[in-house]
Amino acid sequence: MPEVAPMLIVCAEGARVEAELVGGWLACSSCRGRLGPWGHARARVLRCAAGDRWLRPRRARCRGCGGTHVLLPDIALLRRRDEVAVIGAAIEAKVRGVGHRAIAGRLGLPKDTVRGWLRRFAADSEAIRAHFTRWAFALDAELGAVRPAASVLGDALEAIAVAARAWVLRFGRRPVWSLVSVFSGGGLLCNTSCPFPPVR
Ligand SMILES: [Zn+2]
Repeated sequence: MPEVAPMLIVCAEGARVEAELVGGWLACSSCRGRLGPWGHARARVLRCAAGDRWLRPRRARCRGCGGTHVLLPDIALLRRRDEVAVIGAAIEAKVRGVGHRAIAGRLGLPKDTVRGWLRRFAADSEAIRAHFTRWAFALDAELGAVRPAASVLGDALEAIAVAARAWVLRFGRRPVWSLVSVFSGGGLLCNTSCPFPPVR
């Protein structure tokens, strides 16, 4: 039988996702069937503002279609070694006009790493702006026009902020960059040949 790559679902962290998984509250993204625990993905280190953390993402299997999924915690992005909040801080600084060397210096990270994030974000900024604007309107049908910022990067960040605000007003507080991981299916800085999940 051919090996089918697991699908990715972005979830809350640690104990909460464990409870949701064991309780059968998580739905399969393909068939909406109930997911059950199915071991773990490979452990890896996530560089966080507060120091390194080991991540061992949960794997889950659908009781309906039998498909397997990796549950990526919402503090991380797909294929990135750094916490999404750190990546987000770099993007915010860039939009304020800070250069990648200065940002890398402040964050204590290699400048090539930071430049890689910023280039990817810039290259996909129109797709990011469009995706988060769709999310914003899905969450708040009454929303007015999203204000244009001074740059394409700024427009993408503004769309992120508006979508996050719409979520918080509706569902309660949650860190903005965790929401970015959720809304982008973990794929914020993947190139857009790996498309964002559809807005629900
Ligand atoms: Zn399924």
